[in-house]
Amino acid sequence: MLKVLKFGGSSVADAAHFKRIKSIVESDSARSVVVVSAPGKMNGTGHKVTDLLYLCHAHIKYGVSFDEIFRQVEERYLNIKKGCGLQTDIESELAALKERMREGLSEDELVSRGEYFTAKLMADFLGFAFLDAALWLKFSYDGKIDLKKSYDALSKLAAGRKVVIPGFYGVMPDGKIKTLTRGGSDVTGALAAAALDADVYENWTDVSGILMADPRIVKDPRPIERATYSELRELSYIGAKVLHEDAVFPVKDKGIPLNIRNIDDPDSPGTLILDEICDENGEASPQEGNFITGIAGRKGYTVITISKPGMSSTPGVLLNMLQILAAHDVNVEYLPNGIDCASFVVSTEKLGGGLYSILGEVEKQIEPTDIKITENMAVVAAVGRKMAFRPGISAKLFGVLGDNGVNIRMITQGPEELNIIVGVEEKDFEQAIRALYESCI
Ligand code: ASP
Repeated sequence: MLKVLKFGGSSVADAAHFKRIKSIVESDSARSVVVVSAPGKMNGTGHKVTDLLYLCHAHIKYGVSFDEIFRQVEERYLNIKKGCGLQTDIESELAALKERMREGLSEDELVSRGEYFTAKLMADFLGFAFLDAALWLKFSYDGKIDLKKSYDALSKLAAGRKVVIPGFYGVMPDGKIKTLTRGGSDVTGALAAAALDADVYENWTDVSGILMADPRIVKDPRPIERATYSELRELSYIGAKVLHEDAVFPVKDKGIPLNIRNIDDPDSPGTLILDEICDENGEASPQEGNFITGIAGRKGYTVITISKPGMSSTPGVLLNMLQILAAHDVNVEYLPNGIDCASFVVSTEKLGGGLYSILGEVEKQIEPTDIKITENMAVVAAVGRKMAFRPGISAKLFGVLGDNGVNIRMITQGPEELNIIVGVEEKDFEQAIRALYESCI
């Protein structure tokens, strides 16, 4: 049995958290590979080390002294070293980095040191070997991760060993350090789990798994006990941010279960994400009766509705519209349509300042009889594998929204019947989520 664990920034924020990690790792001998982020905020306050390092780089770029900011970085590591009684000579490593910063160092390499130092200290504390991500997480020149080379390298380097790996970065073919996008330690952990064919990928964070609704909107929402990878994808695409998007694919591809756990509540089972869940075989959980796994949503949509008689029977009108939007780098999120009209739901942010130029093209190329723009729209999605092929679910959802005074402006359902999505005005967004949660979960 092999478990790969990833601890996020808040979980490695200080010596107290390092101690919690040690007891978690030591409580299960299968927990042999540990991936760490850089120290994040401490109980929600202070700064993330990664942010401070980006700031140092900006100071270097503009020739402003970075001493004060770097001092804060040093302090974080020295406090962890002291609090955990460690021997690692982190002082010399920090001094050497400072020297290199004066000489000039790439932004990627500089910010990657946040994870590097954390992993050094964690390896010392756990008595595991330190395994640099630069030795195995390999990018190709096009900036994509070379999965084959990376998996081959890690499976050789980590075989039969207990190791700590810094998250968030890897190496280019020319040996230069390259970081992943922000939050990328989740991806490192998933890649390590996939490379080593782990039995489970435990992603430790500061919440008890994925919650059934946004806690800023619903008071104390329950955590999701089990979900499929497809449900996770639906929920996170539409707003439930739990882990880095790219972290799902490596483990999903290999059928490795992903377990999201809470460092502040290590006995709670968290959320278990699996490729498939066989509900009929009995899911002995209080969620058994829920047909909704979770509710998510997002504000910030604009709807462009074009009308033209006979639109549905004229080939190419929708294609033309999609091409105009694509030429402006705008993707269509939802596309409800009628016989003589179609609505294109797009992200307002993506639209940027391009709306009038898009509409100009539409007038010229499509010659619609009417164009309507509706701004400040939100979408709310009820996601659940148990909704599929069960009659009456949408009637219930729409009834709940109607009873709570929420006007539904758009309805779509994915072909797999995994979600039911409604478009509502932004002013009704929170009310819609609360009503659905309270009535259906
Ligand atoms: N430290 C990096 C960040 O703050 C990567 C991570 O935490 O996963 O984005």
